[in-house]
Amino acid sequence: MRLTIFGSGYVGLVTGACFAEAGNNVLCVDVDERKVEMLKRGESPIFEPGLDEMLKRNIAAGRISFTTDAAEGVKWGLFQFIAVGTPPDEDGSADLKYVLAVAEAIGKNLTEYRVVVTKSTVPVGTADKVKAKILQTLKARGADIEFDTVSNPEFLKEGAAIGDFMKPDRIVVGTDNPRTAELLKALYDPFTRSRERMIVMDVRSSELTKYAANAMLATKISFMNELANLAERMGADIEKVRLGIGSDPRIGYHFIYPGAGYGGSCFPKDVQALARSARDHSFKAELLDAVEAVNKRQKDVLFEKINKHFEGKLSGRTIAVWGLAFKPNTDDMREAPSRTLMERLWAAGAKVRAYDPVAGHETKRIYGERGDLQIVKSGPEAIKGADALAIMTEWQEFRSPDFDTIKAELKHPVVFDGRNLYDPGFVKRFGLTYYAIGRGDSV
Ligand code: NAD
Repeated sequence: MRLTIFGSGYVGLVTGACFAEAGNNVLCVDVDERKVEMLKRGESPIFEPGLDEMLKRNIAAGRISFTTDAAEGVKWGLFQFIAVGTPPDEDGSADLKYVLAVAEAIGKNLTEYRVVVTKSTVPVGTADKVKAKILQTLKARGADIEFDTVSNPEFLKEGAAIGDFMKPDRIVVGTDNPRTAELLKALYDPFTRSRERMIVMDVRSSELTKYAANAMLATKISFMNELANLAERMGADIEKVRLGIGSDPRIGYHFIYPGAGYGGSCFPKDVQALARSARDHSFKAELLDAVEAVNKRQKDVLFEKINKHFEGKLSGRTIAVWGLAFKPNTDDMREAPSRTLMERLWAAGAKVRAYDPVAGHETKRIYGERGDLQIVKSGPEAIKGADALAIMTEWQEFRSPDFDTIKAELKHPVVFDGRNLYDPGFVKRFGLTYYAIGRGDSV
């Protein structure tokens, strides 16, 4: 089948590559010329495991190509996927300007029937806005061309996006039209194994499903962080509590890890946008507001521990930071807790010497050249002569470090672990002071 995908970011590119991998002919459209040029050369502008090879393979097979020309995109695919960003507006609501710009481009260039599929995370009611925008643009041209709109939110996780797309837990399709549901079923057939994983529902429920999923996951994290803060004040160990509660199948072990707060391009903005939508419906979403407030506070917890340990004297110190990305296996720095930590350290007059396996270049792009930020090429290099070590991302390579070297290299033998990677008793045997979240010398 012929598909067009607007937006070549984490979602659009993975979607395009995976559909091409299944034999479809995909045209990706993006407004960012630099990205499109890179992609035409076979280079991925983002780090996502497996994506590079998949793109190269499908470019070589002629199944995926790239353009900045929206008209060419509208002409190409029966399916017109919208996978552009929906960043938070100033009031926390999802900014739909990119989504509606694509809808307008579709309306301007439509010449025959198309299925317009919204994959971006969008508030309930957006499908109606997309439809209205296309109709309005068609009307302005004096054209009357049939099209359908579908909601098909994406659930992939950065860092495991290819696997998530190729073998999804579920594919949610929101449509009131049985014909479009059948078209989507045919398109997703190679990924659904006997179709039992496709859940077809009305458009509004589909739009809300995506926010509900992210809000539930964010709630689990904030709940565990709240408990971690309590545990460390009560002399309990949150990691033992985690094991104790997860064994109840009604709770489960998934996604109940305490840490330095959630980040990324989805949870913070989606929780905010849902709370904002609630207010628009004259409803105060108290739990969602609390989930966000707890997370905001949690992002400061590691800085507070560092500041307290050094008795507020951080000026002139160098803190080594292991891990910058908001989670492992991605270079995505959006809303990463490491950013809060670094910015607070800088404000207190400290310097940061940081290492991340893939997010160093993105960090440099965001912060530019500055005297108080040094990005280095390895974990051991980061700790050389630093005052202390802070761990912000649970990359695999940080899980079994050489604690003797850490002790020898740091001016002050102290580790602040925002991801609870180590056993406190074990770390202390090396003569290190160990602060973690909800355990260790935590408060
Ligand atoms: P992204 O910022 O990585 O990519 C968005 C791309 O859209 C950019 O390359 C941008 O240049 C392009 N774009 C903007 N306007 C355009 C236009 N008019 N025409 C063509 N391209 C245009 O964003 P992302 O992380 O891929 O997220 C996209 C959407 O998917 C968001 O709504 C997000 O909430 C949702 N989502 C993201 C994830 C994730 O893990 N990143 C997961 C599920 C859902």
